Amino acid sequence: MVLARGVCAVIANVVTQPRRAREYNNPVGLGGAMKSGIQLVAALLLCMLSPLAMAQERMDDVLGDFQAHGYPSVSAAITRLQAVDDVPGKDAPLARRASYHGALLDLSRRGQHPQVRRASIAALERMADDEDCVRCRFDLALAAFYDGGAAKSTRAAAVARLREAGALQQQLGSQEAMRELLSAQAALGKWQDDYNEAISLLVRASELAKKDGDVAAEVEYLAVMASLNADRGDPKRAIDLGNDAFRLAEDIGYLAQRPTILLDLGHAYSLTGERAKQRAALEKALVLVGDDRDLISDKIIILNNLADFWLSQPGGYPRTLQYARQALALARGEGRERESIAPLANIGIAQAGLGQVDQGVAALRESIELSKKEDIEVYTLGITQELVRVLREARRYEEALDALQTITDLQEKRAMQARETAVLDLQEKYSAQRRADEIEKLAAQNKLKQSQLEAEGWKQRLWIALAIILGLVLLGFWQSIKRARRANRKLTHVNAALALQSATDALTGAFNRRHAQAMLDGLQQQMEQAPTGQGIGLMLLDLDLFKRINDTRGHAAGDAVLVETVKRLQAKLRQNDVVARWGGEEFVLVLPTTPAAALPLVARKVLDAIGGEPIMFEGQAIPASVSLGIVAYPMMPGQSWAAALGLADSALYLAKASGRNQAICLARVEVDAACSEADLARLREAGLAEWRVVEGPLQPPHASGPWQQGPSPAQG
Ligand code: GH3
Ligand code: MG
Ligand code: MG
Repeated sequence: MVLARGVCAVIANVVTQPRRAREYNNPVGLGGAMKSGIQLVAALLLCMLSPLAMAQERMDDVLGDFQAHGYPSVSAAITRLQAVDDVPGKDAPLARRASYHGALLDLSRRGQHPQVRRASIAALERMADDEDCVRCRFDLALAAFYDGGAAKSTRAAAVARLREAGALQQQLGSQEAMRELLSAQAALGKWQDDYNEAISLLVRASELAKKDGDVAAEVEYLAVMASLNADRGDPKRAIDLGNDAFRLAEDIGYLAQRPTILLDLGHAYSLTGERAKQRAALEKALVLVGDDRDLISDKIIILNNLADFWLSQPGGYPRTLQYARQALALARGEGRERESIAPLANIGIAQAGLGQVDQGVAALRESIELSKKEDIEVYTLGITQELVRVLREARRYEEALDALQTITDLQEKRAMQARETAVLDLQEKYSAQRRADEIEKLAAQNKLKQSQLEAEGWKQRLWIALAIILGLVLLGFWQSIKRARRANRKLTHVNAALALQSATDALTGAFNRRHAQAMLDGLQQQMEQAPTGQGIGLMLLDLDLFKRINDTRGHAAGDAVLVETVKRLQAKLRQNDVVARWGGEEFVLVLPTTPAAALPLVARKVLDAIGGEPIMFEGQAIPASVSLGIVAYPMMPGQSWAAALGLADSALYLAKASGRNQAICLARVEVDAACSEADLARLREAGLAEWRVVEGPLQPPHASGPWQQGPSPAQG
């Protein structure tokens, strides 16, 4: 049954693909056409031979198929699920009804299906209330979280629902719920700009999905991890992960995910400056997104990114216009004003560039009005700046001045708001302080009165009784001091533990990225103030082919390797050297007061420490090795640590590309700009860069067998 469905999906795809391609002026290659033809004939034959093709399906089979293969589109998935021949009715067991409506709710969240959403929420709420269905409550809490979490104004309430989902998951104890929870927590991390946290949550979710055989979820997690890496400033990694996600989606036939993945890939390529690849990814995304109603928002963004792309190309304005107009028509057709803003701005810029200044100015003004109405200040500011530029170039100075005034007003409004918040904040702090002072004063007065009264009483007592009472009071006082001291000591311990916790990585105990960054900021300042000539060694270390350890031995083994790596590094390095987890399986080593000449020796120690002996885990020997990119900081006066680390990153890439299990120590690079590993090679040819290669232990563990080298990362 599943096979017959799959085959018919292939037919639908083959039949529609060339048509979509023509629509977007993007002819499919001859090879592709031939392959499509063969696929079509084969699929038609199979479809005709399969008498089951038209038969009904069972709910469990459909849900299982979604996990293994995803679906061609959200609408198709909903239709298919609603058409199963065992739709659980009123008398069906609770678990079946819950999973049917839960699945529909999840699908409706991914597309434009408000009716399905309302119906499934109503059904789940009924089951939650009348039959005490925990799973239903969990699904409802997550749906509410996704609804409100993205916007700052509703986030607090959404986070409360997420916490509720966490408590319900503990009651449920189900692995699937656990990974839905992890993925929602990752979404929160993304919204709060905590990208590293979000990525590590998704790594865990991914492991669980693998165990469950939910390949479609793996594709989704990979896709999100890719976009998170772009957000956290690692577009190369984003590209690797995005390509992995795309390949996996293709392999299993999860067609609905492909356009989104390509859209993110396009963004990542724009960050690395690979314009041709950016364009290819976006154009392919546009073809794949087709007319899928559920992907309209994505389609608008894709069209608009293409319009943006052509803005930066010589002679690209006509294409910008073409794409931006398509985006605008779509957004307007859907009545989405917010999504019309960017296309309108692109249209305005392109028209002005083509000499149609009046139309261009009108479009820009319309876009600015919309952005004001939608209250998106960054858009208002950015687009107004474009308007000023256009007006200035057209020598319409008076209008340009007017527009400039808007920018100044907005900036003033912002500054005023910031000032007001600061004043309110201070006032609040001040009144809190005053309250505290008053309470303290009252307490002091009280104490005084009490002691006066006590003094009165004492006068009437005999001297002996006085002596006894005094003795008792002194004793109590002494004991309370002792108690307070003990409590203080405990608090100091707790504070120290908390400080260490916030500076370290939970898994390995190494310092975390935040701490390392703060320390490097401090070092950078010291270098600026008192140049000592005694440099700092900066090493970027990445475990080789680590993914394979996870894939072949399991995530727990991968974790053990990370922990052991840190242990070995800490044992080999000096007391005041710092080992910090920079992300995933990447570490930064900071070696203060280490002369450049000593760095190759340290590199050898590190390579031997990790690669010399295999790491033991549950009785298995796991061979491991690392690659290193090394610089002496600062390489030139006034260099920032981030620039130096950028060079170390390029050196690391070079080490990976040259076969891994080695360190590249940059001795001299005479440019301060960021440069890729390819730039480094060119600089060396021009005599502007030098480095030393330090090889890891002989017979690197991955020289043969299952450890054969993967594709060079330099091909990125
Ligand atoms: P290369 O030699 O090119 O560096 O190959 P690699 O396999 O190490 O490359 P890549 O950087 O793509 O793989 C890193 C993997 O590390 C992917 C991710 O799943 C895994 N990972 C990241 N954080 C953790 C973690 O905390 N625990 C475990 N077990 N794996 C993690
Ligand atoms: Mg690695
Ligand atoms: Mg890595």
